[in-house]
Amino acid sequence: MADNVFKDALIRVRDYGKSAGVSDEVIDSLMHANSILKAALPVRMDDGSTRYFTGYRCRYNSTLGPTKGGVRFHPGVNMAEVQALALWMTIKCAVVGLPFGGGKGGVVVDPKALSPMELERLSRAYMRAMADVIGPHTDIPAPDVYTNARIMGWMMDEYEAIKRTKSPAVITGKPVRLGGSLGRDDATGRGAYLCITELAKRQKLDPGKTTVAVQGFGNGGYHVARLLQDAGYRIVAISDSKGGIYSPEGFDVASIYEEKQRSRRVRAVYCEQSVCEIVEHETISNEDLLRLDVDFLIPAALEGVITEENVAAIRAPYVVEVANGPIMSGADSTLENNGVVVVPDVLANAGGVTVSYFEWVQNLQGFKWPLEEVHARLQAIMVTAFGEIWDLATEQKLSMRNAAYVLAIQRIGEAVEAHGTRDYFGN
Ligand code: NAD
Repeated sequence: MADNVFKDALIRVRDYGKSAGVSDEVIDSLMHANSILKAALPVRMDDGSTRYFTGYRCRYNSTLGPTKGGVRFHPGVNMAEVQALALWMTIKCAVVGLPFGGGKGGVVVDPKALSPMELERLSRAYMRAMADVIGPHTDIPAPDVYTNARIMGWMMDEYEAIKRTKSPAVITGKPVRLGGSLGRDDATGRGAYLCITELAKRQKLDPGKTTVAVQGFGNGGYHVARLLQDAGYRIVAISDSKGGIYSPEGFDVASIYEEKQRSRRVRAVYCEQSVCEIVEHETISNEDLLRLDVDFLIPAALEGVITEENVAAIRAPYVVEVANGPIMSGADSTLENNGVVVVPDVLANAGGVTVSYFEWVQNLQGFKWPLEEVHARLQAIMVTAFGEIWDLATEQKLSMRNAAYVLAIQRIGEAVEAHGTRDYFGN
């Protein structure tokens, strides 16, 4: 599957590109990565040995600005996945109108098997290997699966040591005291929450009667679940890499999160000081979670979980892609034919890169925006993007994904055509 994910991403660009009405040269420009760097990362392990990890950085397309995209630490990282993620970043930044192209990086590693010092050495080794292609005006990394603010801080520090200058704008998602933006921690979940709120308004959904299942309980999944619960939605299922829990009564998201911090697992246990109580629930697998009879299904873990093989079992009328690429292109038409509304990843999880953009702007200008300003600016961008995509989809009877790709490809296309294509030079 992993090898197919990039081919799958290209299929969508070709297919949706047809309805964008741009020249073939624009589509061709999106078929190839600008550059991919693969490097061996030597890391001194705690036992004194040296281990070599494989790292990647892909700058996919810089038509609209410096490339921007996260760094993933996961055993499943591979070149095809990194390219797919970098292509999706290219589309996503254009969807929300940011002055960025798309990039992505990753390291093949199980970070849970490393000690804190090994993790720091690996993070620094990654930046040492990639520093020639990374920079505040060339390529700007951020967190992704199994990387976090602390890791961004180490990477920034390493970059600054190499360049012998302070350069906070080189990376986003940093700890706030090291130049991070307020509001970056929950920005991905908040962006998805804003999309769901806009959708609920248009579909006249009552939050109190609306159930939600969330697959993946990390940065994206936890915050969207928390914000939805605060708004009255019922979170009936939650999972992580080890499996999930289900209760039709709904869970208290904050308690499940606290328990996950304590035991590293998603467990239906609520604790008050040292007294803990198990709440009634069923244990479910990640595959079971996808099949639940809920209103909103939110895949917020990894790509490729809804495929041609299991798509017929999806019962939720709304799927919101907080993860990148959770639905393979082969499953799109079945969902459409079944009337499922999919809020695509390139819109639903764009809150993260949007606040990363705010962080970059603040770093370049030496400003610190208050949280209210970050929230207000994020809301303005997400609500506008959602409205543009919803209106185009409604007017032209397209899926929201198709509409999002049309808008993004047209914006990239205008920039490509501004340099001149065959239409200009051929005449
Ligand atoms: P994270 O590392 O904070 O959390 C990942 C979560 O997924 C963890 O709870 C983990 O246990 C769970 N998980 C891992 N493998 C799983 C599996 N096979 N089944 C179910 N759960 C599994 O990562 P994150 O930052 O929340 O990223 C999740 C998704 O959101 C990724 O697709 C990522 O690319 C996307 N995303 C993240 C951001 C961001 O700002 N962090 C922005 C945009 C998109």
